[in-house]
Amino acid sequence: MTLSLQYPIYGPEIQCPHCRQVIPALTLTDTYLCPRHGAFEANPKNNELVHLQSGRHWRRWEGEWYRQHTHPDGIRFEIHEALDRLYTQGYRATKVIIANRYKELVSTYLERNTSWRGSSQSVPRLYGLPVEFSPDIPREPQWDVINFDLEKEPGVPKRYPYFRLFE
Ligand SMILES: [Zn+2]
Repeated sequence: MTLSLQYPIYGPEIQCPHCRQVIPALTLTDTYLCPRHGAFEANPKNNELVHLQSGRHWRRWEGEWYRQHTHPDGIRFEIHEALDRLYTQGYRATKVIIANRYKELVSTYLERNTSWRGSSQSVPRLYGLPVEFSPDIPREPQWDVINFDLEKEPGVPKRYPYFRLFE
């Protein structure tokens, strides 16, 4: 038996997706053990890491774990958080690109403007932003792992509502 076969697919240690602490694999199993978050199991068939306690799934791209969503609220919440972060960094988002594999999951939740010209080509929106879906996976394999991307431009600095009283 070669050394690599003694470890799960992600090697002898990984960063815990919850706390980012480096955690070890248990030899001869598919399990990683975080002292704070318990056992994570690597699935060699689909390259997913599963948190046994919560049933959450992750895939990894360039050293980062990306939670795999099974409910539209999960991905919507993640996008909302990213928009908030972008805003506090002084940007505003102009478009959301969502991984194609979520198309069915999120489609019914997207806002669609009722077209005033009766055109059937209305752009779906989320949080008021136009939504696109990612290109085919073979050309851009990161889209099999990451959940979404935001197009952004420099925005106005963050202002608080009470400033408006003095303007
Ligand atoms: Zn942890």
